Amino acid sequence: MSDCVFCKILNKDIPAEFIYEDEECIAFRDINPKAETHVLIVPKEHIDSVMEMSDKDEKLIGHLVFAAKKIAEKLNLSGYNLQFNVGKDGGQEIFHIHLHLMSKFA
Ligand code: 5GP
Ligand code: ZN
Repeated sequence: MSDCVFCKILNKDIPAEFIYEDEECIAFRDINPKAETHVLIVPKEHIDSVMEMSDKDEKLIGHLVFAAKKIAEKLNLSGYNLQFNVGKDGGQEIFHIHLHLMSKFA
């Protein structure tokens, strides 16, 4: 998606502080952190939101949560919150699925 901020970050057209990458997803620090540690875990495939998920995406969502666990270990977080904002009314601003990993226990 050419007008998607997270696709642009994935394509390295916009800089970001990357902290993790695997075959399915990438993770970078939120530009406007709402916690001491605030990381966004973003699938390489563009899907607008959890509302637009289809059956084939079920595994991918589990993959994002598992990536969050690995990142939290890497950052030595002793506790954290994982959050999907879904749809405009759910506070979603960027319509490319992402999982927020937030922690004040850095
Ligand atoms: P949403 O509200 O869609 O769940 O969350 C979008 C998040 O992306 C927000 O926390 C916002 O600060 C972050 N964000 C928006 N634009 C950029 C950007 O260009 N770079 C980075 N690193 N984060 C961004
Ligand atoms: Zn995108």
